[in-house]
Parts: sequence; structure tokens; C-alpha cells
Amino acid sequence: MPPGSTSSTSRPDAVVVGAGVVGLTSAVVLASTGHRVEVWTADDPAATASARAAGVWTPLTLAPLASSLAWAEQSLQDLCGLARVAGSGVRMVEGLTLRPADGTVPPLSRLSPDLRDADPDELPEGYTVGQRYRTPVTDMITYVPWLLRRLEAYGGRVRRRRVEDLAEPLAVAPVVVNAAGLAAAGLADDPTVRPVFSQYVVTENPGIDRLLVDTSNPRGWVSIIPHPDRVHLGGVRKAGRTDGRADRELAADVLRWCREIEPRLVDARMLRVDAALLPGRPTMRVELERRDDGVVAHAYGHATAGVTFSWGAAREVARLVGPARRAGTARAGA
Ligand SMILES: Cc1cc2nc3c(=O)[nH]c(=O)nc-3n(C[C@H](O)[C@H](O)[C@H](O)COP(=O)(O)OP(=O)(O)OC[C@H]3O[C@@H](n4cnc5c(N)ncnc54)[C@H](O)[C@@H]3O)c2cc1C
Repeated sequence: MPPGSTSSTSRPDAVVVGAGVVGLTSAVVLASTGHRVEVWTADDPAATASARAAGVWTPLTLAPLASSLAWAEQSLQDLCGLARVAGSGVRMVEGLTLRPADGTVPPLSRLSPDLRDADPDELPEGYTVGQRYRTPVTDMITYVPWLLRRLEAYGGRVRRRRVEDLAEPLAVAPVVVNAAGLAAAGLADDPTVRPVFSQYVVTENPGIDRLLVDTSNPRGWVSIIPHPDRVHLGGVRKAGRTDGRADRELAADVLRWCREIEPRLVDARMLRVDAALLPGRPTMRVELERRDDGVVAHAYGHATAGVTFSWGAAREVARLVGPARRAGTARAGA
């Protein structure tokens, strides 16, 4: 067992509630700075909303703007680094974003590596404006187990346990991270959180290796996100919808819109529809709350961009919590 590991009998000094991308990344970063970390999760980490994500770093700005920019940039840096790590599930993909003729490039897009205006012959028929770039795309089916192995290598561990009240993990550890996704709202007694419904259609990959996003579609963003063995088609998000089940009618629409832009999808077999309710909030929340029995770092509200903000949010959690207060346990960064 590596030094500083959590043995089966020792108590953790940090409990992360939630094994989605925000919780697991926070756990890895905390464990890498010497914390004995346990992750408590109601669901199997392979069955969370995060595990269903299409996995693209998205230039989506959420409030607060400064955090959006800082966390997305941090995540971009970490994910680009992970694209060079064999087995992480992250790879760099060529992208093309189509815009309306008067469309401007949003601030976060400017962070994308190798961003340039698309040449006219790179645009599908009927489009006049677009940008080319490279972006990290994360295969969550590979990435979630990779994060778990990384956590385990730092001595952390995962327990299947549903938390009803944050007093439960606080009774075990002085530091608790509330990264329970949509359920974080109830645990934090936060009435500002609203569900955001998100859905992608997953098909076989008929040979598509370029990511394509059409922001000029008045019906909403249309995205085609390729993984080696499948393609995620979507971009559907609906604020306020409380039914997280897949919407077959919407799926048929998305499939049709994507086939209009990418004819190779016409014969691609549909594999499944991924849908979930995500935590929407007027502002993303990564904030420390001091209680009599310890501190709670709240980390939720990343709506449809949890992968995009994960490393930035996790490093902010670690900064707020500080290093483990035990001598001789600090290790190299994650
Ligand atoms: C179809 C789809 C595609 C997406 N594509 C992208 C994308 O391409 N790029 C991107 O950046 N984002 C994408 N997202 C959004 C992203 O998945 C979310 O932002 C992200 O999942 C939020 O992560 P999270 O860790 O906050 O919560 P979650 O993934 O929801 O995890 C919550 C965790 O908390 C646990 N939990 C809940 N309640 C309790 C409790 N009471 N006690 C203990 N544990 C509890 C759960 O079991 C789970 O482990 C997509 C989402 C969907 C649904």
C-alpha cells in the first residue's frame, strides 16, 4: 500500500459525496495532496450522469464568468495533458463549429488549440461561417475507471453509501466535499438549483473522426461528437424539465438534424439514447462552508458542462480545503 494510503481500518480525513466527474476529480486532486480520501456514492460510478456524458470540452460560459474562464482553461490544460496519457480515454479531436453569418466567437472558444476560421471548402453546403480547432474529447466509459484507478493509486477508495445529511460524513471526517450533482442541492438546502434535462443519441460510428457543432440551428445546438466506436449526437438541453427519462421524439428530431449535416449517419445504427437531469444553478458553486464539526466544500451546479469544468472546479476545491494537516503525507500534484 503506498504511503498515506487509507487502510481498511483508518479514518479518512476527507469524504467526497458523489462519484460523478466533479466528485471523482476532486477526490483525485485531494488524494494527490495528501488527504486520505473516501468517496461515498449512492450510485455505481459507471452509472452516473457523468458516465453518460458525450465528453467534449465545451466552450459554454456559465456564471460566474471569471470562474467559467478560469476553470474551463484549467480543465482544458489538464485534459490536453491527459490526451497524452495512454489509457485515460481522453484524445484530441479536430473540430468544426458552424455559426450564423453574423455569429461571433464566444470567449471560451478562443482558448481552443489551433483555432482558425474555416476555409470555404471546409464548410458544408449552405454554411458561410465556421471555425476549426482541436479539442479534448473524453470517452467516459474509459475515463471513469481511469479516475478510479488514479484515486486508488493515491490510497483513496470508493464506498456505495447514500447520504441523507452532510452530518453523516462530517461525523467521520473533518473535510466533506458535496459533489452529489443534482442531489447536492438537497444536501446543501439550496433552493436555487433547477434541473436541466440533457439528452444525446448514440449511434455506431460510420467513420466520422471530426467533431461538428452547428450553433446556427434555430432549434438549438446540434453536435456530432465522435468516439472511436460510436458517435454522440445531440445538444438537447431543456431547463426546468423534471422527467429525466429519454425522450424518443426529441431523439428522432436530433437524428434527423444530424443526418442532414452528416449524410454518413443515415445508415448508422442507433445504439441508445443517453439522458439525465443535471444540476442547473444561477451560478456554479464551489464554496467552503465552515461548520462546528468541520468544513464542507460545495462543488455543484455545472449543469451541462461538468466535464468541461471538472479539473478547474476540483483544483478550486483543493485550494479552498488546503493541504492535509498531517506531516509527511504531501505528494506530487495530480
Ligand atoms: C447525455 C449527456 C451528455 C453530456 N455531455 C457533456 C459533454 O460533452 N461535456 C460536458 O462538459 N458535460 C456534459 N454533460 C454534463 C455532465 O455530464 C454533467 O455536468 C456532470 O455529470 C455533472 O457531474 P457531477 O459530478 O456534478 O454529478 P453526477 O454525474 O450527477 O454525479 C453525482 C454523484 O452523486 C451521487 N449522489 C447523489 N445523491 C447522493 C446521496 N444522497 N448520497 C451519496 N451520493 C449521492 C451519485 O450517486 C453520483 O455518484 C452531459 C450530460 C448528459 C446527461
